[in-house]
Amino acid sequence: MIKLNKTYPAPASLSSKECEDTLEQIRKKEANGETVTTKDYGTLYGKEDVRKQLMDDQNNKCAYCESTILHESRHVDHYRPKSIYHELAFKWDNLVGACWACNKDKGKQFPLDDESKRNTIEETPLIINPYTEDPSEYIAFHEEIAVPKKGLQRLQKRKAETTIKLLLENKDLEKRRKEMWQYYTTAKLAYELTNSPCFLDDVQQFTKDNHQYAGMFRNQQ
Ligand SMILES: [Zn+2]
Repeated sequence: MIKLNKTYPAPASLSSKECEDTLEQIRKKEANGETVTTKDYGTLYGKEDVRKQLMDDQNNKCAYCESTILHESRHVDHYRPKSIYHELAFKWDNLVGACWACNKDKGKQFPLDDESKRNTIEETPLIINPYTEDPSEYIAFHEEIAVPKKGLQRLQKRKAETTIKLLLENKDLEKRRKEMWQYYTTAKLAYELTNSPCFLDDVQQFTKDNHQYAGMFRNQQ
């Protein structure tokens, strides 16, 4: 996970009449005590302009795990799940581009430090939002394994642990990070043995924003 910056203005389709009408229908259902389901939102939050702008802002990587996302697997995740926070379903600031696995693993989960504060101004999420917080302040790596950064306060540590458990420590992902770590150590060794600037360039590529798992290469502990 690395710090991301969202570009503005928000994609036009999010302020369409269709979105407004859909939200109005959802409010009515809620007011009548009816169950609101995923189907009620349709696919309005995932129009092409939204997907494209998210992928541009994220260098075509998942905002959570930093795996490269193929064009056909671009998922639009709601940082605060729409199943709990209906009003945020079409809010640009709540949308995050995610891979299939992170979108699935996160699902409807949105743990808080204090559940009794949900939907209040004091709500403190335990999943790090890479658009509003710098993940490098929380998460470090031992080679390919994600760990909470040393010296964190209680809340920061809890956020790191929850984010890692939910999004950064599945076996497939660790296997891919391990492979990438091996490429990195090979490039680093080549540089150390030759002192050649072209190998240095290779080593530095791993830490760039557009590189898969850049956070791992930047934050070894
Ligand atoms: Zn992911």
